[in-house]
Amino acid sequence: MSEKTLPLESNAPTLYCSRCKCEVTYTVAPLDHKKELMRTIITCGIWLPMWLLMSFARTRTCNQCGNAIDPS
Ligand SMILES: [Zn+2]
Repeated sequence: MSEKTLPLESNAPTLYCSRCKCEVTYTVAPLDHKKELMRTIITCGIWLPMWLLMSFARTRTCNQCGNAIDPS
């Protein structure tokens, strides 16, 4: 996976950040499935619902302040 630093695009998706109090661009946190699998094994499967929840509801992080944006 190549990582490129792209200039801010006008059509980049934005969300309202409650901390910045404005529309901001955001980053969707990548989910480390190996780490989540380890957690599931360590917790004897208790972590599995959390893993599933996390894979559906991905955390969006504000590019301005690093705040986790609530999708509500
Ligand atoms: Zn923010």
